[in-house]
Amino acid sequence: MDFELPSHLNDVRDSVRRLIAAEIEPVMAEREHRGEFPRDLVRKMGEAGLFGAAFPESVGGSALGFLAVAVIAEEISRFRPEFGYCMNMQAMTCPFTILNWGSEAQIRRFVPDLIAGRKIGMFALSETGGGSDAAGSMKTRAERKGDRYVLNGSKMWITFADACDAGVLFAKTDPSAGHRGVTAFIVEPKSGKGFTANPIPMKSLSSILRSNAVFLEDFEVPVENRLGQEGEGFKVAMNALDYGRLTVAARLVGLAQACLDASTGYATERVVGGHALGRYQMIQHLIADMSVNVEAARLMTQRMAWLMDQGEPATRAAARAKYLASQAARHAAQAVAEIHGGYALADEYKVQYFTAYINMLNVGEGAANVQRILIAEDALGYKNANRHRVRRHDAKAAE
Ligand SMILES: Cc1cc2nc3c(=O)[nH]c(=O)nc-3n(C[C@H](O)[C@H](O)[C@H](O)COP(=O)(O)OP(=O)(O)OC[C@H]3O[C@@H](n4cnc5c(N)ncnc54)[C@H](O)[C@@H]3O)c2cc1C
Repeated sequence: MDFELPSHLNDVRDSVRRLIAAEIEPVMAEREHRGEFPRDLVRKMGEAGLFGAAFPESVGGSALGFLAVAVIAEEISRFRPEFGYCMNMQAMTCPFTILNWGSEAQIRRFVPDLIAGRKIGMFALSETGGGSDAAGSMKTRAERKGDRYVLNGSKMWITFADACDAGVLFAKTDPSAGHRGVTAFIVEPKSGKGFTANPIPMKSLSSILRSNAVFLEDFEVPVENRLGQEGEGFKVAMNALDYGRLTVAARLVGLAQACLDASTGYATERVVGGHALGRYQMIQHLIADMSVNVEAARLMTQRMAWLMDQGEPATRAAARAKYLASQAARHAAQAVAEIHGGYALADEYKVQYFTAYINMLNVGEGAANVQRILIAEDALGYKNANRHRVRRHDAKAAE
């Protein structure tokens, strides 16, 4: 057992930090003002290899593995959480799902461009009926007509849909078959008529890297863009969420770390009643708890990544890591606000900015209660969390 990060991953982490400081930090205020999706910045990140760590070199990845993904996602979120979305849309839930379930032709056509940031991805599962029961409440319909499927319905909260070139979308090909009637598709929103993405106004989050309500009206998808078989979509989605949970857990760790950084910085500088806040015992309690929680969540997340690197099933580890990381981050959000007092509300201190992303990630990729249900049912022996069969790139797992 070795708890040290391999030294090359420390280098990877430093390179992420440098790229954000040099290319993103100086321009973001102006970009938010301009209001356009920052395609060039996503591309810079892709070209720097930030999205391809878990992908084989044959598709343009660096084959560094999932531990590298966790390190990169944590570091991006620690400094610019709005770009953390890219670790799902450009790295895990979108292109890795295509790598896992796609034909060789689909992989060649979509994966290299997505992980290089040349194409913008998305992962369109949730609908208004309740994201926690995505398959059960799914109303979006795909009807086969000759060599095409015709899609009608709507999706909710779909991140990057307004900029997307190629993403994964789920629809029911057989509405009478429950979750067995769901099919996955690779959709290219700009390829034809009938795909509309309306950004959802959310003042506390970025206005350019954003989520959307999506409407599909007779939107056509060629049969060759079906991902997997008809009726296999639920398995595709659940498998994709395991990968998504790795980056979401790591992103929450990065945000919790950002809250801890801000808290220690502020508590050592701010003098109240003749002493730095950090000298007061009640403030120290908050800092101590944050520090322990962040480290525990990081270890759990990195262990999940390690399991994935061994090719072992990691659904149980994913649920635990995501749940613990979201608890750690929520505690950190509360503590950083308490330590900053009234200044927590001033934009200058970024407390609200980090808190908004923590709240968002607390629900994303399965809300906290959904993780708790999974963890408890596994512990009680009702449902083995690792029961799902997994695909090609989880080489050692049972097929
Ligand atoms: C900013 C943002 C970006 C997003 N991006 C995407 C995206 O790109 N693609 C995508 O597909 N989705 C995306 N989502 C959707 C996200 O995955 C859902 O919000 C999430 O799955 C929860 O669904 P819901 O919001 O409908 O909550 P609901 O399902 O309505 O749940 C509400 C609350 O009830 C709890 N709950 C639900 N069921 C139970 C139960 N059985 N027992 C106890 N408690 C329960 C949940 O834990 C939650 O706290 C995004 C969401 C946000 C906010």
